[in-house]
Amino acid sequence: SEKAEVVTRFAPSPTGYLHIGGARTALFNWLYARGRGGRFQLRIEDTDRARSTPEATQAIYDGLRWLGLDWDGEALSQWSRVDRHREAAEEMVARGGAYRCYASKEEVDAARARAAEEKRPQVFESPWRDADPADAPDLPHVIRLKAPREGETVVEDAVQGTVRWANAQLDDLVLLRSDGAPTYMLAVVVDDHEMGVTHVIRGDDHLTNAARQSLIYAAMGWAPPVFAHIPLIHGPDGAKLSKRHGALGVEAYRDMGYLPEALRNYLARLGWGHGDDEYFTTEQALEWFDLPGVGKAAARFDFAKLADLNGRW
Ligand code: GLU
Repeated sequence: SEKAEVVTRFAPSPTGYLHIGGARTALFNWLYARGRGGRFQLRIEDTDRARSTPEATQAIYDGLRWLGLDWDGEALSQWSRVDRHREAAEEMVARGGAYRCYASKEEVDAARARAAEEKRPQVFESPWRDADPADAPDLPHVIRLKAPREGETVVEDAVQGTVRWANAQLDDLVLLRSDGAPTYMLAVVVDDHEMGVTHVIRGDDHLTNAARQSLIYAAMGWAPPVFAHIPLIHGPDGAKLSKRHGALGVEAYRDMGYLPEALRNYLARLGWGHGDDEYFTTEQALEWFDLPGVGKAAARFDFAKLADLNGRW
């Protein structure tokens, strides 16, 4: 049988420079797709209108181009799809996978505070969850996912292995806010599905989101993509990467005189390995890159190694 085409994406929020962690995520997605004759797409997650800027979007384009990570087709603005996200939320209500919740913020906060006091999971149990949709008043409301209360949600992650969450710990998450704005969780699933994304490769700070997103896929009757959550980059001291230790924009590396080939080589090695090979070409990385080779431990950024590679290029 014919193998389905691999489709990956890089989905940055344009709220700052393209930092080194984002560049590595983009590189892994690019290597995985292009090494398999597949497509690599760019989606600008600009739904946070207050924090998204055209300068940051431009910095992402410039950084990716300088690194040689070309994307297929036009970059997609997530904001341009907001009507489609709203429609999908309504479809979910119609399918019975989501419901209109009229609880006020005060009610939700009070319920959570009560749960915390009683040492129960801080999950909001909406009184509207099982209300008859025919009784729905014409008042401001959010749309919530009707998440299963029993059993567990399992994600077979290509890097982390089998990860489980008790459904009792997962909220009926908000899909559409009362002002009609879709949440990140809804927008990502609708866009990934409709862009035909087969593999979601991103930082492991999104691992719990994969559980929540799996529930949205199920509610829509869509097959989820393969998830691969890669450990974040740490500093040489094992702590969160600081500016001094390398948490800089890609353009800072360019300005320090690093070559894109060397940075690509270094970033490919950061959290992924092919035997003992340190120095390799992009052609070799395209041939070798795979998900089982991504480690589960946080990679440590090391300027000395980067400088050493840069000298060889
Ligand atoms: N926009 C998100 C971020 O920049 C990434 C979303 C995703 O990859 O699913 O952290």
